[in-house]
Amino acid sequence: MRHAFPGGTPALDFPGTLRFRHRTEPREDLDSPASLGAWFREAGITVDDVPAGPADLREALTLREAVHQLVRAAMAGEDYDREALALVNEYARKSTPVPQLTPGGRQVEATVEQGLAYVARDVVLTLSGPDVPLLKECGNPECSQVFVDRSRGARREWCAMDPCGNKIKAAAYRARKRANGLLAARRSGPRSA
Ligand SMILES: [Zn+2]
Repeated sequence: MRHAFPGGTPALDFPGTLRFRHRTEPREDLDSPASLGAWFREAGITVDDVPAGPADLREALTLREAVHQLVRAAMAGEDYDREALALVNEYARKSTPVPQLTPGGRQVEATVEQGLAYVARDVVLTLSGPDVPLLKECGNPECSQVFVDRSRGARREWCAMDPCGNKIKAAAYRARKRANGLLAARRSGPRSA
């Protein structure tokens, strides 16, 4: 798998393909048409990679940023950007991937546009549904992944332990060690008169 799916639903995992948005240089996971084609398969929307070209990728990235805006607005309780809303609704109207039963199992006929329509419908359902108050951004200050926090007492902090939870825990451990080290150095250091 080249992509990560910590959000719990395509509406959150799709904008998550631009990772670490809080860094000056975020990480682009949809860096080629092929990686977009693989995303639909890895997300479970299709069975095979969806054939994709450069124009498909541009289209997908435009929709992705519109989705990102809507998710952020929903979390902040702000008005939706009208253009972003219109674009997502336009895709939600298009036809979605078509599952077919074959002797070899399930096949899914899909173009990139159909895959994006699937994501857009998920955005409509997610942002109009009961999970909106459970949306949370990852506790790693660099990470911008949003997830649905279904944990008891809403205690989930990280999009995923690897890398975010581990990274923050390791940093906290180092900070504790450093603080202890300073304390020890002060205790054993020369006493000035
Ligand atoms: Zn994270």
